[in-house]
Amino acid sequence: MDTPIEVLHRVFGYDSFREGQQEIIEHVVQGGDALVLMPTGGGKSLCYQIPALVRPGVGVVISPLIALMQDQVDALRALGVRAGFLNSTQGIDERQAVEAAFVGGELDLLYLAPERLRADSTLRLLDRGDISLFAIDEAHCVSQWGHDFRPDYLALSGLHERWPEVPRIALTATATPATHAEISSRLGLDQARHFVAGFDRPNIHYRITAKSEPKRQLLEFLRTEHPGDAGIVYCLSRSSVEKIAEFLADNGIPAVPYHAGLDAATRAAHQSRFLREDGLIVVATIAFGMGIDKPDVRFVAHLDLPKSVEGYYQETGRAGRDGLPATAWMAYGLQDVVQHRRLALEGDEAHRRRQVLHLDAMLALCETAGCRRVMLLDYFGQELDKPCGNCDTCQAPPESWDATVPAQKVLSTVLRLARERRQKFGVGQIVDILLGKKTAKVLQHGHDALTVFGVGTELGNTEWHGVVRQLLAQGLLAVEPAHGALVLTDASADVLRGQREVRLRRDAPRPTRSRPSGGGGSSRQAVELPAEAAPVFERLRAWRAATAKEQGVPAYVIFHDATLREIATLAPSSLAELGKVSGVGENKLAKYGEQVLETLAS
Ligand code: ADP
Ligand code: ZN
Repeated sequence: MDTPIEVLHRVFGYDSFREGQQEIIEHVVQGGDALVLMPTGGGKSLCYQIPALVRPGVGVVISPLIALMQDQVDALRALGVRAGFLNSTQGIDERQAVEAAFVGGELDLLYLAPERLRADSTLRLLDRGDISLFAIDEAHCVSQWGHDFRPDYLALSGLHERWPEVPRIALTATATPATHAEISSRLGLDQARHFVAGFDRPNIHYRITAKSEPKRQLLEFLRTEHPGDAGIVYCLSRSSVEKIAEFLADNGIPAVPYHAGLDAATRAAHQSRFLREDGLIVVATIAFGMGIDKPDVRFVAHLDLPKSVEGYYQETGRAGRDGLPATAWMAYGLQDVVQHRRLALEGDEAHRRRQVLHLDAMLALCETAGCRRVMLLDYFGQELDKPCGNCDTCQAPPESWDATVPAQKVLSTVLRLARERRQKFGVGQIVDILLGKKTAKVLQHGHDALTVFGVGTELGNTEWHGVVRQLLAQGLLAVEPAHGALVLTDASADVLRGQREVRLRRDAPRPTRSRPSGGGGSSRQAVELPAEAAPVFERLRAWRAATAKEQGVPAYVIFHDATLREIATLAPSSLAELGKVSGVGENKLAKYGEQVLETLAS
């Protein structure tokens, strides 16, 4: 029988385990139960795939991602692993063939949709085979706290009673203490060993920029930093998804929309194109992305503020799974804060309190003058010993300034309108008053007679919006849910009385253009291709695209970008040399080795 490291080399073609993998794999190989918390892109799949290959019997993987099962199974088959799946998308013949293979011991891995386990027939089928382990993927789906709650997952606690001797491994990338505890208790994994991997993704560059003209900013970001790259752009609403996708396409950038309002066939088609084509952008609501394990997503852009740091980290984590440099970029502005503060006022008391906590953490991340990565990891209870050097605030530390007087001007305008006029207004009117603009609306309300009229000419319109945004973020101002009018908070009084200093972060006058030198500073693979290797890489990519198309699988199922880059750089001249490249396992070497060498020689 092969050892785990032998399987890693032979089947997957990788040199070494990533952090945490080996311990987890050995524990499960020996029959232990495990609960695994690992960030998106951390390498969870190997943690059950290798034990399933090492232990006798079939590894049963429970996954909610029905639309992706075919690709997952294709990727395993390309490695020479005997894999199959059972879900509602199959015809009877196909299902029976998979069932027969399972019972006959001709499978290494069987993927199952969770609802299958509710059917008695499935349980009886499983009884007839030899099971090596149960892997419960996306285990946070048992959690009432997450967005992806699936009642079917609750039934999974029954697995242990029916098959007490079969080890279970549950995996998730959602790792706040509350979710962790809930997964553990709902799946009956209190006795299991808990593995919490480091949540850092060093190859991802984080950047959060002040939103002024989002479309133009996005376009500039894509053109200067990611031309021709695949990526995801997240928006909050369906209509902005449609608009942005159209805008990008109009500007010659291939992009497709994805949201829950599109019919299932269109969604599936767009997802499939994203997985199969090189360099396509998906503009999406958060409905897109769970389980998308495309390794070469080069950027994730947010045009609206995510609802929580957890959501942000999961979404941005979809970038750069292959370990090459990737960018998490977000444009965020005053309207985001207003909108979220309003959303956070909906629902029952407990819900509201939770929303506010989530939002405050998210805003703190946006407004921080410190290292973003330090703050992100701290949110997951992990420590980074020094600033990362690969986020915007590390590379261009923002200045902070004493904004006490400007803050007082804003607050006192709000106060005067309320006291003297019994009026409330949104940010636009407040700023016009401060700037002394005699707009129709100002004149109509006689606001030019207020003592604060024109007292704020030391800042421009954009700066005032920045001040209001940060006051909202710090809770020194609030918005009314109904009309978005600004109102004072308890904390405002201290500022007005001069008992509290207000320090704000100076927004960059312009969106930063500079590309951090070399991207992921701390990433081992962050090297650019040498000049002579670039055309070779392009030839290999063309070969890969043709091969993938012929076989009807995503390009990355053939080889990852990282593997092609290494091949282009090393230019191996024999099969033996090619076999040493990371990502070239036994099966792929036999299947594609000659073709790759020919492509190199051509
Ligand atoms: P997760 O499910 O945790 O998001 P995956 O299991 O999809 O992550 O792995 C992310 C990527 O890293 C995949 O492309 C996988 O092939 C690659 N990978 C995983 N483990 C290793 C390893 N030990 N060496 C090299 N690449 C690895
Ligand atoms: Zn940093």
